Amino acid sequence: MSSPPIEETNGSNNTSTSESVGDFHLLKRIALNYTDVTITKWRSEKTGLRVIHVDYEGPIINGYFAVATEIFDDSGCPHTLEHLVFHGSEQYPYSDALQRIAFRSFASTPNAYTAQDTTVYTISTAGGTSFLRLLPVYVDHILYPRLTESTFVTEVFHINGEGQDAGVVYSEMQGRQNTVADLVDLAYRRKLFPKGNGYRSETGGLMEALRTLNLAKIQDYHSRYYAPHNLCLVVTGRLSTQALLEEVQKTIEVRAGVHEQDKGIKPDEWKRPFMETESAIVPKIESNSSISVEFPAKEERFGEITIVTIGPSPDDEQTSAALSLLGEYLTGNIVAPLNKELVDIANPYCTSIGIGSTARAKFTEIHVTLSDVPTKYLGNLEIKLRKILQKIARQGLDMKRMHSIIDRVERLGRHGLEEVGGEAFSGIILQDFLYGDDYSEKLEKQLQLPELFHKLRSLKHQDWLDILDRWVIQPNMLVVRARPSSTMAQRLESEEKARIQEQVSRLGPGGLEKRTHMVHEAKAKNEEPMPDEVVESIHVPDVKTITWISVQSASTIADSRELEAVEPSSQLLARHLEADSVALPFALHFDHVSSQFVTVTTYISLGAVPDDKKTLVYIFETLFFASEVSLEDGTVLSEAELIHQLEHDLVSYSLDHCDGYPELLCLSLRVDVARYDLAIQWMRRLLWSNKASTTKLQSRIAILKQSLPEYLRDPQSVLSELQAEELYTESFTKRAFYARRLIEWVPEFERRLKQDPRGVVNEVEDLRASLLKPSELRFSVIGDVLKLDRPRSSWLEKFQSLPFAPVAPVRLLNETLSTLGKKPGKRAVIVSLANIESSFSSQHALGILGFSHPQTPALLVALDVLSGAELYFWKRIRGAGLAYGASASLDVQIGHVSFDAWTSPNAAKAYQEAKRVVEGLVNGTIPLENHKLEAAKSSYAYTLAEGFSTRSSMAHFIFTNRVLRGRSSSWIQDRLAAIQDVTVEEVLDMMKQHILPLFQSETSVAFVVCGPGQVDDIASGYRAEGYDVEIRHMDDRVPWADDAEDSNFTTKALKLLGKAVSAGEMLVKWTQGLFHL
Ligand SMILES: [Zn+2]
Repeated sequence: MSSPPIEETNGSNNTSTSESVGDFHLLKRIALNYTDVTITKWRSEKTGLRVIHVDYEGPIINGYFAVATEIFDDSGCPHTLEHLVFHGSEQYPYSDALQRIAFRSFASTPNAYTAQDTTVYTISTAGGTSFLRLLPVYVDHILYPRLTESTFVTEVFHINGEGQDAGVVYSEMQGRQNTVADLVDLAYRRKLFPKGNGYRSETGGLMEALRTLNLAKIQDYHSRYYAPHNLCLVVTGRLSTQALLEEVQKTIEVRAGVHEQDKGIKPDEWKRPFMETESAIVPKIESNSSISVEFPAKEERFGEITIVTIGPSPDDEQTSAALSLLGEYLTGNIVAPLNKELVDIANPYCTSIGIGSTARAKFTEIHVTLSDVPTKYLGNLEIKLRKILQKIARQGLDMKRMHSIIDRVERLGRHGLEEVGGEAFSGIILQDFLYGDDYSEKLEKQLQLPELFHKLRSLKHQDWLDILDRWVIQPNMLVVRARPSSTMAQRLESEEKARIQEQVSRLGPGGLEKRTHMVHEAKAKNEEPMPDEVVESIHVPDVKTITWISVQSASTIADSRELEAVEPSSQLLARHLEADSVALPFALHFDHVSSQFVTVTTYISLGAVPDDKKTLVYIFETLFFASEVSLEDGTVLSEAELIHQLEHDLVSYSLDHCDGYPELLCLSLRVDVARYDLAIQWMRRLLWSNKASTTKLQSRIAILKQSLPEYLRDPQSVLSELQAEELYTESFTKRAFYARRLIEWVPEFERRLKQDPRGVVNEVEDLRASLLKPSELRFSVIGDVLKLDRPRSSWLEKFQSLPFAPVAPVRLLNETLSTLGKKPGKRAVIVSLANIESSFSSQHALGILGFSHPQTPALLVALDVLSGAELYFWKRIRGAGLAYGASASLDVQIGHVSFDAWTSPNAAKAYQEAKRVVEGLVNGTIPLENHKLEAAKSSYAYTLAEGFSTRSSMAHFIFTNRVLRGRSSSWIQDRLAAIQDVTVEEVLDMMKQHILPLFQSETSVAFVVCGPGQVDDIASGYRAEGYDVEIRHMDDRVPWADDAEDSNFTTKALKLLGKAVSAGEMLVKWTQGLFHL
């Protein structure tokens, strides 16, 4: 173990490099040789502030501002401070300042989290200019927050007028403190760490402690821990390091000087949290021991077991990495050894097994968690687990599989790194700030991934067995048995009731009134807004400062050696493709980005599937990778062999509905560039040498039956289903996938499967043949095309036998609209769900249709003005407690505008308030200030930049934009410019033309899902607005409910094993991808 880190390097003479910028000395420069990322670590000799810049190419800059937050009690100072920091600072003394400045600076919402050892404040911006502008504002909030009594009242704790305990942090902990996860976590830490150790505390704050916490204590904690020498600014992304340090120097360092925080890198009396306190002592587990924890539950059937052991030193990165690979080996997929013994069996011992670790100052904690353990096994399942592990060790490990796992993890790591750049290292770097040494080589060693993988590959069979034995089988275990208790649930409820009653009588009517007044006053004080002139004095950056990943695109012409017309910026790609000139029976679309990978995709149009065969598409999709596939030499691969082989050869594979195009299925295979030919070969095999089997059909239907009931109880699924049923015709494929449709269809399908299995398999095969008609297929290659030797001719051998056919146009969703969908009006449908207590609604009206409509930019800004964070709906609907969230949006593919409100006590009231806002804006009684328009435009720019910040998301967008929407490659820049030009008048005009009709019954339809108790109020609200209301009660029973012995349990088990693809999951994915830019 290295000696205490800071003293060792105290004084500027010891620094390993003489490079400096102002007060900042360079501690380390790490230039990685396997990826284009450079990390520089800097420290101010004046204040001790650390700045770490992770430099790499990309449009988004991320900030992680970390404070090491050690505490020796459960008061929750770290967590409460995290909340209070966002409510104004010395230089910006307004509650909404940071948010409002961020929202006009192409930035994400400022956010934060508090862990056991640190509080990290986060922000992302599009472009470096906005980042540097926000940085000093943010840090002013962190180091010099305006900690006031009024924000303490609203954000931390107060007693309200009804005598109940409240406050944002208090309510958060009320929701967390008695969950099984928190109870187990606190219980084992109390056992493992002695008093005086920081790892023992509840940093979130226990409710009983929050009730007695006061502002002075938080202020005191802040003054001790929130100091420059305990703060690290990690910045990831492309900006000038020099400019970053100069900005810090001229703003943050100056303020630190004013506050007399320029006492060098280690002021007297300062003990480094966790490293130089009692928390650094490594605990011992002297013998196997166990503790029992009760947790409140309605049913007492399933508990949880967590096993904690002391793992290796955090400096031993090789053993830590090996342990996580062993975890993957033991539990990673269906055929993994522990799952085979404990989960994937007739009567499972648990639904999942997780192996993980937590880094502490001087050791690593290893955790094994067994979830949903039937209570009869809670007493000794760890003994069975240990026996199984011993058996695995005796029988030996499958080294072929271990190496395949190492390869796969490495490939996925390389791909992740390429997608998010040096951002992938932010976790390791924050860890290094907390527990590392300014000058040590540890960080550099941790980041040398190729060397690490090389070492892991060279481990022998015996080495793996030794690691398994030493760190998993042998160590003494601390076992936590979490037992469900309905008595505890009742007890907590009655104790809480009694406590509140006592509180009410103690305070008396006078006291309660005083509380109401106090809360009211605090709220009013907090809501004093930042004056508009201050907001407007902060200059909005130019959209031209945002950088975009460049993509070159070209398409070949079917049955020809020629290319379609290519834009000048794609000439390099065109020449490369022309050099490999062959004629293929179909057009091939190429989108080039610099990369180590290439993705081959086949788009399959569902437009030609007859309406009565739509449900079979669901079966086709679910069975796609669970079939038998024959290879060229005649070998037939089983499902398990297929999965192993795909995982071995590819980086990833998927079959899904194309984002935004639910009538297109896309089969995507991603490989290392060198395996391009292999990807094409797999494409051929998976599409044409793939055969459904009756056994698989039966097991999938069984899984489907078990997973359906939960979607009948999920309000968002029911709402989507309701909308699809009302707004679309049968020709909309996904309509056939909804839970209620499947429930009707499944028993009949099952019966046919029993009586005539061959016939059913033939039906699936007929569907496959009709889907694979050449007129319904499109082929695309995305990735580093310039690195491919034979980008076109590689396809020849595998695909030349495909006959030429002109490609049918993609069917757009508006072609599947029902009569109501084409002309919404008057109708409101309310569905009651027995298991919920709040309402979810969606409102539709005609908007504008088509991908190039000239009004789109103005309408989008108008919608953002309504829905953006801190804007109208946020303040008037969310702020007033009318719904947890509300937003309005546009779908140009169906030509609808819509208004959605979720988790609302009364959907009709949320609707009425939204209507008042829009009417008020249109008639001028509610002003539309310019800064709101700017905030909406800025949030659009950030969302766009964030959405296209990875190579694969950008290249995929360029493909759909060009091939499916027929728009130019400069679309993003053109759209952003058009958005910037939108005026207040245009926005108001759009509200009048297109948004107001959404709140008039003649031109709109409303769909609501709510609890049974809410139906009457909501229905009369909509009737008052002029809608014809239909009320339905959802029947959440399924015909097979009685014969499913414990469907929920088995479904969970199967799902966690990655076997079940449920209707609801697809549905959620689909609704997420529904809205188009
Ligand atoms: Zn919180």
